[in-house]
Amino acid sequence: MTRIAIIGAGPSGMAQLRAFQSAKAKGQSVPEIVCFEKQNDWGGLWNYTWRTGMDQNGEPVHGSMYRYLWSNGPKEALEFADYTFDEHFKKPIASYPPRAVLWDYIKGRADKAGVKHQVRFNSAVKNVEFDQQDRMFTVTVDDHQKNETYAEQFDYVIVASGHFSTPRVPEYEGFNIFNGRILHAHDFRDAVEFKNKTILIVGSSYSAEDVGSQCYKYGAKQIYSCYRSQPMGYKWPKNWTEKKQLLHVDENSAYFADGTSAKVDAIILCTGYLHHFPYMAEDLRLETHNCLYPDGLYQGVVWQKNPQLFYLGMQDQWYTFNMFDAQAWYVRDIVMGKIALPQQDEMTSHTAQWIKREQSLKNSEQMVKFQGEYVKQLIAQTDYPSFNIDAVNEVFMQWKKHKKENIMGFRDKVYRSVMTGKMSKQHHTPWLYALDDSIESYLENENHEQEAM
Ligand code: FAD
Ligand code: NAP
Repeated sequence: MTRIAIIGAGPSGMAQLRAFQSAKAKGQSVPEIVCFEKQNDWGGLWNYTWRTGMDQNGEPVHGSMYRYLWSNGPKEALEFADYTFDEHFKKPIASYPPRAVLWDYIKGRADKAGVKHQVRFNSAVKNVEFDQQDRMFTVTVDDHQKNETYAEQFDYVIVASGHFSTPRVPEYEGFNIFNGRILHAHDFRDAVEFKNKTILIVGSSYSAEDVGSQCYKYGAKQIYSCYRSQPMGYKWPKNWTEKKQLLHVDENSAYFADGTSAKVDAIILCTGYLHHFPYMAEDLRLETHNCLYPDGLYQGVVWQKNPQLFYLGMQDQWYTFNMFDAQAWYVRDIVMGKIALPQQDEMTSHTAQWIKREQSLKNSEQMVKFQGEYVKQLIAQTDYPSFNIDAVNEVFMQWKKHKKENIMGFRDKVYRSVMTGKMSKQHHTPWLYALDDSIESYLENENHEQEAM
């Protein structure tokens, strides 16, 4: 029987499990699937851990999420087409759920599909090699439960191990002598730690915006953020100042390219992540930066040099959960022989055309539409339930506009579900005052008193 290894049981790996299960539910004969997950539960980044550095098994901690993290985009943009929020929660909920609520939603679909038995937890993949002669992969795994290492053979490998876990950590002059704490966003866990402190955020993308906003919400005294290429440019609260590039630091202060300096207690490097697959043999290893169309992946997922290998979710992400679905359904149909791949040179030139188009994109609207079109053309090739991607693009545009209007208030906005046509419900407490991010607090109905900081 054909054997398939999925590496990682985060949203991408879970989408792949669901894709095969949906074919099986339609009476089709599906291959044997083994999903290796190094953590002790599924959900990937959404499975919060307080740990940083190494986990209990000596593995690098995968988690980059922190306490009080709420979705940074509307749930209406990421909703599964085959499992709506209404189906899961049985009542309308607001548009920007906290982490635990989204984790519950992802798990809900996978539980319904009954695919958990296919996951081997506490199982870290250590090596993947391909034998040209028998055209099989050998996957070597550390089973941390049994404390043993073993190898198994597979016809196909699907890498779904994410790319927001290995921090990109720059060095600035003076870091060695700085008296405060220096950490990367990957190790940031609780904004309360920075209450009454002056912090410097390095970077100007989503982590910079959100880690800074968390610190503001939970009582930081003063926030400085600094950018290398583009300022975030939002209307920040009074105690948040955006500076030009960081040049160097000394024991207590940071010095910026505009000639100013500031005394800071801590520095948080929101400087992004590396695509890092140390367990893949060199000739199978994806090397890319964080972009919308990584080179070497036909249709964004097929390893062109060896189409028995796939990578899911490796793009920079406007679209997330439903894009992972579109990819997983497409990969499933290649493996099951329903989609035939073209010759190598055709795959290469197809990818090159998309990359060229990506290079011509000038603003976020064009980027969203580009990724939307990518998702659209994948869905057109499989039986994944079709949905109105132009309408999702419009949700993203509304989201951008709401952020521009009020960066500390955009999470109070509501949107219409593209899947059900129903309007989302206003949350009981404005985001800025909702200090308890638990699922219980989020789902309760009573109105809360606004809590004063
Ligand atoms: P991951 O979620 O990273 O899952 C990968 C899985 O692979 C993990 O379970 C990991 O343990 C496992 N794994 C890794 N290496 C191995 C190995 N060697 N062997 C076995 N298993 C392995 N997206 C949104 O849509 N909305 C948000 O609000 C949002 N917030 C985010 C906040 C942060 C701080 C970050 C970093 C990302 C956020 N994202 C958000 C994007 C996020 O990438 C996706 O939502 C999603 O988690 C990606 O799923 P994935 O399965 O591809 O990767
Ligand atoms: P990112 O989008 O890749 O951005 C990296 C940032 O680091 C960029 O601003 C980049 O600047 C800067 N940078 C890189 N190297 C630098 C250096 N040497 N010096 C100064 N700046 C440097 O990474 P991210 O912001 O961590 O976001 C990753 C993912 O996490 C996204 O998908 C995001 O949606 C998600 N996220 C979500 C939430 C949430 O939902 N609440 C919160 C945080 C993150 P340049 O522009 O100059 O390259």
